[in-house]
Amino acid sequence: MAEEKEHRYDPATIETKWQARWAADPGMYAAESSASDKPKYYVLEMLPYPSGQLHMGHVRNYSIGDALARHMWMRGYNVLHPMGWDAFGLPAENAALKNNTPPREWTLGNIAAMKRQMQRLGMGYDWATEVTTCLPEYYRWNQWFFLRMYEKGLAYRKKSKVNWCPDCATVLANEQVIDGRCWRHEDTIVEQRDLVQWFFRITAYAQELLEGLDKLDGWPDKVRTMQRNWIGRSEGTMVDFFLEGELNQGTGIRNQESERQRIRVFTTRVDTIFGATSVQLSPEHSLVTALSEMDAGLREQVTRLLEEQKKARETGDVGAIEKHGVPTGHFATNPYSGESVPIWVANYVLTEYGTGAIMSVPGHDERDFEFAKKYAIPVRRVIAPADPAAEEPELPFTSEDGRLVNSGAYSGMSCDEAKKKLQESAVAGGFGEATVTYRLKDWGVSRQRYWGTPIPMIHCERDGVVPVPEEQLPVLLPEQIEITQQGGSPLGRVADFVNVTCPKCHGPAKRETDTMDTFVDSSWYFYRYTDARNAKEPFDPAAARYWFPIDQYIGGVEHAILHLIYSRFWTKVMRDLGFVKNDEPAERLFTQGMVIKDGAKMSKSKGNVVSPDDMVARYGADATRMYALFAAPPDRDLDWQEDGVAGVSRFLGRVWRIVTKYAPVARSADGAAATQPTGAALKLLRKMHQTTAKITLDFEGRWHFNTCVAAIMELVNEIQGMDAQLSAGEVPAPIMRELLQTLVLLLAPFAPFLAAELWEELGGEGAILRQPWPKSDPGLAKEDEIEIPVQINGKLVSVVRVAADAGSKDIEAAALAEEKVKARIAGKNVVKIIIVPGRAVNLVVKQGL
Ligand SMILES: [Zn+2]
Ligand SMILES: [Zn+2]
Repeated sequence: MAEEKEHRYDPATIETKWQARWAADPGMYAAESSASDKPKYYVLEMLPYPSGQLHMGHVRNYSIGDALARHMWMRGYNVLHPMGWDAFGLPAENAALKNNTPPREWTLGNIAAMKRQMQRLGMGYDWATEVTTCLPEYYRWNQWFFLRMYEKGLAYRKKSKVNWCPDCATVLANEQVIDGRCWRHEDTIVEQRDLVQWFFRITAYAQELLEGLDKLDGWPDKVRTMQRNWIGRSEGTMVDFFLEGELNQGTGIRNQESERQRIRVFTTRVDTIFGATSVQLSPEHSLVTALSEMDAGLREQVTRLLEEQKKARETGDVGAIEKHGVPTGHFATNPYSGESVPIWVANYVLTEYGTGAIMSVPGHDERDFEFAKKYAIPVRRVIAPADPAAEEPELPFTSEDGRLVNSGAYSGMSCDEAKKKLQESAVAGGFGEATVTYRLKDWGVSRQRYWGTPIPMIHCERDGVVPVPEEQLPVLLPEQIEITQQGGSPLGRVADFVNVTCPKCHGPAKRETDTMDTFVDSSWYFYRYTDARNAKEPFDPAAARYWFPIDQYIGGVEHAILHLIYSRFWTKVMRDLGFVKNDEPAERLFTQGMVIKDGAKMSKSKGNVVSPDDMVARYGADATRMYALFAAPPDRDLDWQEDGVAGVSRFLGRVWRIVTKYAPVARSADGAAATQPTGAALKLLRKMHQTTAKITLDFEGRWHFNTCVAAIMELVNEIQGMDAQLSAGEVPAPIMRELLQTLVLLLAPFAPFLAAELWEELGGEGAILRQPWPKSDPGLAKEDEIEIPVQINGKLVSVVRVAADAGSKDIEAAALAEEKVKARIAGKNVVKIIIVPGRAVNLVVKQGL
């Protein structure tokens, strides 16, 4: 019993011992300066929001990154592996409302708790470079960049829609709007109000953001596709239809021949313009507003269409709206054909898409066809199949592989040729042009919230918008503040904050009370890590030049769009400001799968949340981390099974027992082995070199860490299976030392605590993190013999063992000599033998001799 107890793997004792040692050596995970003669490697996991508790998704994310960082340290790289906190945001304000805790206090408390969890898990971060985005030492640089962007015309103000709760009398974030109602007032419909807000001109970089995706071949294809769709480039044509008749009854609209009012439509299919049988306007189009002012009946109908559109927007799917429209009674002239077509108002036309006006071509567009059928608008064929002999297809015919018919001088041209010619004549005639449009909109960064970076602007009655002078940064967020949901931005009620002196005229002025979107914080935080304590600039450009681009960025696919587009944009802006040289922030991106439980996402409401603290308390940090890597390939979802963690913990117990058992032999080794290894020693060395080769290859990009752990398990099984030979001293001490040390080194990225403990146990010198990664010897990794399956008429019959380098003749002889094979072919005719060297033998056999 005593011995049994003595030989118990006790992760709590081992892990707390090493945690204390590592804490006493803060330089352990520090990167060297750019003067280092080692190659650099920047591995980064996305920084968390400090909610107060790590969840299993975090543990998985950080276990992947930490394994990679440790591997790269052992490969001799100068590794930067930092961590920080995305610490601004709404939850801190909600917590303040609920518990009456100031947001700063709540946030910093949560950071401390999560940092303890990370340290308990043994994550190898350099805490000297920790970045906390809610502290003035960081957010002052958000303000500084804002001023630089304002100077460049990249930050600007415009009117935009916000969610407004009339009962709260304040703006709501999108996540505070639930089914179109206020989160605090279930019966109150949230209104859309126009507010003047700040924007970043990300659209100025739309084309570059799009083209850059082609070069990011270290990023997952799905992320690149999502970004391409989000940017949404489409080539099209702007064409002016001309409003007919006079519209000057008190509207101010003149429509003389010399200055005919134009209705500019956007289309991707100008080749179909001879088939346009109506023009459709958004209910919010300025012409509709003008016409409604003169026509009460129309006004009423337009109001209804607009309400239908707003409802559809709230459900988030305007595309699925049931299409309604009303004719205005007015007409427009097609500039190409001179044809007069009716002007309609339609609920499916959005004011923000293109120009808020479209031409309707029911013969060649599904949606237009549906609308035309409903309202008996004429349908006309203007595109025929490219092949003149082909049968005329039914309408709508939407293919662009066709030729024009019924299209005046353009008839007979292909769609592509006609597009070009039509665009040219629009330019020549002054009624249109070719355009490229993007789905990507400018980035609205104003938030009417408290817990964020104050926007460094001042409003003066005399001078308008005046930037805060750089020497007055940071604009500090007031800390003693009463958070209530009532009556607008909390900052607006802090007189000391709002009332300032205008930097230009020195008269009384008001400070901007909007704060910045928290995506601003996460757009450049990884640059700050390279020089986190710099009080003079956001970071030293030389440090960023050394470390960037990030070699490997790791995080959830939920950040595929916003965070990763904004940070690409920010990098390009900093490059154009002369701050960095790289075009893109990260060379390689990896998006890990989710951690689920019983097939569902972990959530409090489902009661299926597994706490990392519980797992660590029961099985240890090593087992928890290693299970997170072992249970599924890193890019797939992982269904958390506690049995599995227990299994990994038992495995680590076996490693601990076997290494401690033979550690005295290994420690007794003096110099290298005297003779060539044979027997058990050779077999174990071969397995060791094979395992090393496999794991090394995985770290170089394949990342099947689940099979890496499985390979280590196989190696341990092989060692345990030879316990008798080992006990009998059949394996020389130097080989035992090499074998066990290699096992422990291979384990180090996955189970760092146990590896450190066993490294010491084996008499290894220095931190295991500083040991060179084991090298695989291909000669020793090679098998002597391999097994080759033998098939007869495609069915597996037996397996033969042959020399690994056996030729076809030897394999054939071995197959024909095998007992089962001999029995099957007796008295039959072997008509063919197909041999795939090293892989398989197939005999084709017929009845009779
Ligand atoms: Zn409300
Ligand atoms: Zn002024």
